[in-house]
Amino acid sequence: MECQVITGARIAEKFLDELTRQIKDVDAQVKLVSFLANNDPSAEQYAEVTKKSCARSGIVFELRKIGREELEDAVIAANDDDTIHGILVYYPVFGGGHDQYIQNCVNPFKDVEGLCHLYRFNMYRNIRHIQGRKDLKSIIPCTPLAVIKVLEHCNVYDNDVPYGNQLRGKTITIINRSEVVGRPLAALLANDGAKVYSVDINDILLFYRGPDLELNKYKVQDTDKKLEEVLPISDIVITGVPSSNYRVPLDLLKDGVIAVNFACAKNFDDEIKTKASIFVPTIGKVTTTMLQRNLLRLYKYRTYGRYS
Ligand code: NAD
Repeated sequence: MECQVITGARIAEKFLDELTRQIKDVDAQVKLVSFLANNDPSAEQYAEVTKKSCARSGIVFELRKIGREELEDAVIAANDDDTIHGILVYYPVFGGGHDQYIQNCVNPFKDVEGLCHLYRFNMYRNIRHIQGRKDLKSIIPCTPLAVIKVLEHCNVYDNDVPYGNQLRGKTITIINRSEVVGRPLAALLANDGAKVYSVDINDILLFYRGPDLELNKYKVQDTDKKLEEVLPISDIVITGVPSSNYRVPLDLLKDGVIAVNFACAKNFDDEIKTKASIFVPTIGKVTTTMLQRNLLRLYKYRTYGRYS
């Protein structure tokens, strides 16, 4: 079987073209401010990539390096500054509950990452709009959204089925259940109708909307399943294991599987090309593009009171 290898850069391209066109049509400068308060070199690297991508689409990007005890006041000041349209913070800063507090300090209409309570609540409860308004779509966190756009690019969504059920019949395994990527992604894909096995280091959970999608939102069920049982029945396998030693056991994969890796490390050996119909080795460029897409959306909500 011929495997199609699709890079994140290729998938991001059409979104970047569309963003560049839309940014040109906006009268004012659209500005994103990011706060680096943790001395993390990989966050600095991510900021550099975001800066380049913003430069390409015409968005003004500013990185502000500050001490972590100044972060809360700096975020509040950015909320009140009308020249700033989006706020990004590189986490972890304090870790745990205080980071969540900072996430909730960001004005939801400037929250390009979609990490404040309103957007998380909407995502987990399968509420797709803000304030019940059809012209204000809720914001989805950038990396899970990037994976969704990757799957759309791979024609996984069935457009003949009503919106919200378009992953009906698909079985997906996600190897990662972090609160920033794996768990929200499992919820989003299950809310769209997929049966999702969410794998982490300890166990495997099933996220799904019931046998005939009778539930309005996903539910989670404990399983005693092992990776050896869920991989052979999965149409799509998405990985995010942050370890250079980890590899998905290829012999367990279905022939023709769609394989997507969002980890910085390589989770699939090159032989994946003999097993998969589609392989997406990295998605970083899609994520930085989704960040800008969220920014433009929020800019329009604040400026025009709607998305147009
Ligand atoms: P994390 O450390 O918070 O979570 C890792 C997850 O993987 C946990 O659920 C853990 O249980 C699971 N895991 C680890 N080893 C495992 C194993 N052997 N078997 C099964 N599950 C295992 O990390 P994170 O923040 O989710 O980031 C994960 C990776 O994704 C990192 O490499 C990070 O750099 C990358 N990332 C990429 C993007 C992007 O846009 N491309 C965005 C965010 C994170």
